[in-house]
Amino acid sequence: MDALSYGSEHDQFRTTARRFIEKEIAPYHAQWEKDGVVSRELWRKAGQAGLLLTDIPAEYGGAGADFLTIGIMTEEMMRGMYTGPGFRVHSDIVARYILHYGSEEQKRKWLPQMASGETVGAIAMTEPGTGSDLQSVRTMAVRDGDDYVIAGQKTFITNGQHADLIIVICKTDTTAGAGAKGVSLILVEADRPGFSRGRNLEKIGLRAQDTSELFFEQVRVPVSNRLGDEGRGFAYLMQELPRERLLIGIGAVAAMEAVLGWTLDYTKQRKAFGKPIIDFQNSRFKLAEVKTEVKIARVFLDHCTALHMKGALDVPTAAMCKLWLTETYGRVVDTCLQLHGGYGYMWEYPVARAYADARVNRIFGGSSEIMKEIIGRSL
Ligand SMILES: Cc1cc2nc3c(=O)[nH]c(=O)nc-3n(C[C@H](O)[C@H](O)[C@H](O)COP(=O)(O)OP(=O)(O)OC[C@H]3O[C@@H](n4cnc5c(N)ncnc54)[C@H](O)[C@@H]3O)c2cc1C
Repeated sequence: MDALSYGSEHDQFRTTARRFIEKEIAPYHAQWEKDGVVSRELWRKAGQAGLLLTDIPAEYGGAGADFLTIGIMTEEMMRGMYTGPGFRVHSDIVARYILHYGSEEQKRKWLPQMASGETVGAIAMTEPGTGSDLQSVRTMAVRDGDDYVIAGQKTFITNGQHADLIIVICKTDTTAGAGAKGVSLILVEADRPGFSRGRNLEKIGLRAQDTSELFFEQVRVPVSNRLGDEGRGFAYLMQELPRERLLIGIGAVAAMEAVLGWTLDYTKQRKAFGKPIIDFQNSRFKLAEVKTEVKIARVFLDHCTALHMKGALDVPTAAMCKLWLTETYGRVVDTCLQLHGGYGYMWEYPVARAYADARVNRIFGGSSEIMKEIIGRSL
């Protein structure tokens, strides 16, 4: 089994992240849940604190740290179930596409602005008519001289309300049979005429995170806004998706570890029939099962992280990672909520928020069924 190598720079990063979260996120998160969106100011403060684009090279404004910082940041956020800030999509997904497929000019222009929090990034794949079946997107980018003219609609887009820069998954070749080869990735700035945001969608979880509809009505962008080659968009998505699935796994394990900790604390102090809840054999057995599952989840996650860090995380293993860790998260949080009794159903208890937030992990980034399809194809 591969061991992850943590050093004092990781401890320092953890301390910075923890302090930042205590000061700039914890006091405001409940209000952001009511607002359905975090404050714009938070993005700039996170940028100033060096918490955005942590593993993007310093020459492009990132912190130049390694992938482990992403796990540390996630663990710190999950300690209080602070799922509002859409940092993962911005720093760990959108910025990676620009780093990997962008031109030198695109990287120099956008990455420093994203690292400082001046520019917020989003990625728009899903449409009202298609989610899992990405090849069927209907948003079109039609070439007109040195421009593309984009028309279509996206939905469920994380950071949709704040985003200044959106990677839009478009069809650049609509001829029958083009399929995946007709897909391209195009950067759209939110101040382009014809772009508009729809509703900030009301969700059952991730309540402080903005998730929106986006509309593109004949939005004209220069061809130089395309990321990489025309018609290669689907291949780029397939290359990046294993990492995105690993990121979701990281979130699931960090959340499970936090949920287990709260549940141990709660069952030790809450009494029924004259003794702490944890003293009932059923509670101990349930917690023993949960602890075992969380431990296995951590070991598997660390294995997948180590593979990723040496460029060896393949598509089926990343799918197993997302499938198993998010399904386990669902089971674990359900058991832990039960052990809290009625308090577990109260929003002020983080286990209640974890219960609501956990659910979407089995849907986005490729649903559990799609993960099984991917694993199945490798058999
Ligand atoms: C909170 C939230 C944030 C999101 N953020 C983003 C974002 O930032 N950017 C973005 O582009 N998208 C985002 N999404 C969208 C998300 O990725 C999609 O919802 C997801 O991919 C599923 O697509 P769908 O909703 O269209 O469901 P569908 O594809 O319609 O699936 C419906 C059901 O059918 C099942 N199904 C589909 N195909 C198969 C198959 N071949 N075999 C078996 N079962 C199948 C699915 O598993 C699912 O259970 C977000 C969604 C949510 C809820």
